[in-house]
Amino acid sequence: MNKHELTQEIKRKAIEIGFSKVGIARVEELEQESVKLSNWLERKFHADMNWMGKNFDKRTNPKEILPEAKSIISVALNYFQKIPPAEPHQGRISIYALGQDYHIILKLKLEKLLDFIRQIVPDVKAKIYVDTGPVMEKVWAMRAGLGWIGKHTNLITREFGSWVFLGEIICDLELIYDEPIADFCGKCTRCIDACPTEAIVEPYVLDSNKCISYWTIEYKGDLFPEHIANKFENLIFGCDICQEVCPWNLKFQKETNITEFKAFDHNINPDLFELSKLNEESFKSLYKLSPIKRAKFHGFMRNVKNAIKNLALQKLLNLDFKCAIFDLDGVIADTFKLHRQSWGEICARFGYSLSDEEFKKIIFGRRGEESAKILFNGKITEEEARYIGIEVDRIFRKIAVGNLKTVDGVIEFIRILKENSIKIALATSAPDENVELIFSELNLHGLFDVVVTSKDVKHGKPAPDIFILAGQKLGCKPRECIVFEDSIAGLIAAKNADMLAVGVETTLDKNELMNYADVSIKNFNEVLRNLKLNKKVNNATN
Ligand code: SF4
Ligand code: SF4
Repeated sequence: MNKHELTQEIKRKAIEIGFSKVGIARVEELEQESVKLSNWLERKFHADMNWMGKNFDKRTNPKEILPEAKSIISVALNYFQKIPPAEPHQGRISIYALGQDYHIILKLKLEKLLDFIRQIVPDVKAKIYVDTGPVMEKVWAMRAGLGWIGKHTNLITREFGSWVFLGEIICDLELIYDEPIADFCGKCTRCIDACPTEAIVEPYVLDSNKCISYWTIEYKGDLFPEHIANKFENLIFGCDICQEVCPWNLKFQKETNITEFKAFDHNINPDLFELSKLNEESFKSLYKLSPIKRAKFHGFMRNVKNAIKNLALQKLLNLDFKCAIFDLDGVIADTFKLHRQSWGEICARFGYSLSDEEFKKIIFGRRGEESAKILFNGKITEEEARYIGIEVDRIFRKIAVGNLKTVDGVIEFIRILKENSIKIALATSAPDENVELIFSELNLHGLFDVVVTSKDVKHGKPAPDIFILAGQKLGCKPRECIVFEDSIAGLIAAKNADMLAVGVETTLDKNELMNYADVSIKNFNEVLRNLKLNKKVNNATN
């Protein structure tokens, strides 16, 4: 078989196996591309993906991988599928990750192709790559005539747009080579304009430090940088925005016929609240066949948490909720110092010196008796716990008279909520005598549509009962409610009630609240400022 016939046979077989496109490029050292890659690495646009800077010689010269290499057979496989737009409470997953892991599917197909080549040329020397080795796949696909590299840096084909996976066989066969096609981006800048984080810093140059795909897939840390995390919106694995807006995609995208790429049901706009309940085991079993496993449990949950935070912020600043539930101590009434003093006094009676740390972590959000049991952990009797609970409240009431004030900005905030027809509830574990005292000292009567106290429910916080009851009394579903809490127990209770939980940094600081709150606010004045700002922006855009 001559090289023309061999080339034809390889291409025919590739399409028969199911590849969407196949092309062949001559193996050469990538001189121009190696300069571009060096510049890109020097500008640190690879973020912390240090593997991109490794094996530079192999990356820019396939002969460093296979010294006899003469040709690269490059294949593309269409993976596009249309899924309905996500609701704000749903997460969005990049299309490429909706179904089974493409590495395995592509590799199997390439192995089939190589087996076929071996039947014709038994001693062929060849290596298969699918997005894992030091190979500049997009460059070789471009050289093999599969498409051009667009300004968003993805390869665009004229038949399927950019929704293609790439793979290649590097081999020692002499074959007939394809010509690269022209760049059809022209004057278009849609991808650059649409990128929410301005990651395409100039045409054809992507800064991974700004790219949502990098942050949600590759980044291994705990927290996203604050200045861009809210731009991720509800993206929980990857980002397709620059591809979605590309006119070539809009024109040429076609549904994939590869069944393995079809979306798992659980990946089509999954509910963020349900995802937040995954544990490591359920994560592993849900995503064992999916590219999502690359983010690992820790990274994926970080992404989900960030998406819920963005949802909470968006709802808060657009007043997009039906019911606001407030805790009393630390959220409505500024009682932190008074409770600290009361607990200090009662502990002193037992010869115990209470630290600030213990006070903050154990006391708030629970009934006094429960707190006493946790604090003294089996060292006191039931009766003593009851006594402490009663006494600490009595001391509080004694010192609270004349010394109470409301938390800054909260009354004004509630006034605005009411103007926007949002129902207001109070859900407090404080004993009724304390509630009565605080109400009369701060003139709170008539402020709330509903008041639920610990006597109305069986369990105190962190059980969700108190918030569920408050929501029910106001005729609101949990997802329509936002809870304002200053305590860890209260925030856990709100999340257990399936409600959005806003941490108010009056008692604990941001770092202490961040593992429990969906979003935390410094104070209500900050929210009021942002509400006004948001209103101005909305007025300007309407
Ligand atoms: S993937 Fe998203 S963040 Fe990255 S360049 Fe494209 S639009 Fe920007
Ligand atoms: S959106 Fe426009 S500039 Fe960007 S890749 Fe597509 S055609 Fe090129």
